[in-house]
Amino acid sequence: MAKIGFIGLGNMGAPMAANLLKAGHQVTGYDLNQQARQTFTEQGGQPARSAAEAIAGADTIITMLPAGEHVRQVMLHQGGLIDMARQSGTKPLLIDCSTIDVASARDVEQTARTQGLEMLDAPVSGGTTGAAAGTLTFMVGGSDSAFARAEPVLKAMGRTIIHAGGPGAGQAAKICNNMMLAINMIGVCEGFILAQKLDLDWQKLWDITSTATSRSWALTDYCPAPGPVPTAPSGRDYAPGFMAALMLKDVRLAQEAAEQTGAPTPLGAQAAALYAKLVDAGEGKQDFSVIFRWLARQTRDKIG
Ligand code: NAD
Repeated sequence: MAKIGFIGLGNMGAPMAANLLKAGHQVTGYDLNQQARQTFTEQGGQPARSAAEAIAGADTIITMLPAGEHVRQVMLHQGGLIDMARQSGTKPLLIDCSTIDVASARDVEQTARTQGLEMLDAPVSGGTTGAAAGTLTFMVGGSDSAFARAEPVLKAMGRTIIHAGGPGAGQAAKICNNMMLAINMIGVCEGFILAQKLDLDWQKLWDITSTATSRSWALTDYCPAPGPVPTAPSGRDYAPGFMAALMLKDVRLAQEAAEQTGAPTPLGAQAAALYAKLVDAGEGKQDFSVIFRWLARQTRDKIG
């Protein structure tokens, strides 16, 4: 069983750490937020007063933080986890599960490698329900040997663990996935809004398209028009799920990467612009499929 230091016990980190505890791993956790530390303690975890204390003696360090700046701060600055890990006798494996920009992921990994440490980027898909159920998908970037070390730990938190390639490949897979999802979601919304304008019943449209060429996960599992998929966030007034503000973060990361590499992503750019307007309209904390209701309200006649 691994001795794990876990930094970032928020909406995702808390249930992930709970699954590590359930699998029998020894987990010491730290979060800036006192309430998050308290919840972790109630789950049976060992709380720490600092990130340094959380990683003392650990063979594995997991971070689940909001964005690249937080990962850089924790790894490279604030006490410098990489520096501390280098000095410890255990040479711990670093696994960053946050969704961050590819450039930061590669920078931090390179710093770790120059200090003689192995590091993986391992962002996840599956949301808070997947985190609680231990069914997350991990998209992992890094060396073969680091991946082999991480697999038993990741299996306690996820069902599908895919080695995507070298450093940064996990983050690359994550932002490509979420850019495609954002575009798909908006496409489904537009189809259902047009259907209503054409007096076509939403259930009929869903019955046809869910077996036709426009089929996608956004349609079959997460239909943004209320009714056809009662378990989707549209069936509970768009409570998340996956917050629109986080989707905006991810499509912006994809756009930054597209600009840096010269990849043509005109629909990704449109998706980023529409999600920015949605968040500006105060819908950032709703599920990202709320873009259906927001788009529908752009029409003169009420939809839905
Ligand atoms: P969250 O804001 O709930 O949790 C982040 C935690 O990090 C917070 O509790 C915060 O206090 C803590 N933190 C920030 N800076 C810190 C520091 N310097 N030291 C210690 N703790 C610090 O966010 P979340 O929903 O858990 O998401 C975490 C990451 O997972 C994000 O990158 C997000 O994009 C990604 N993600 C989220 C979901 C989802 O559905 N929520 C799904 C997939 C991926």
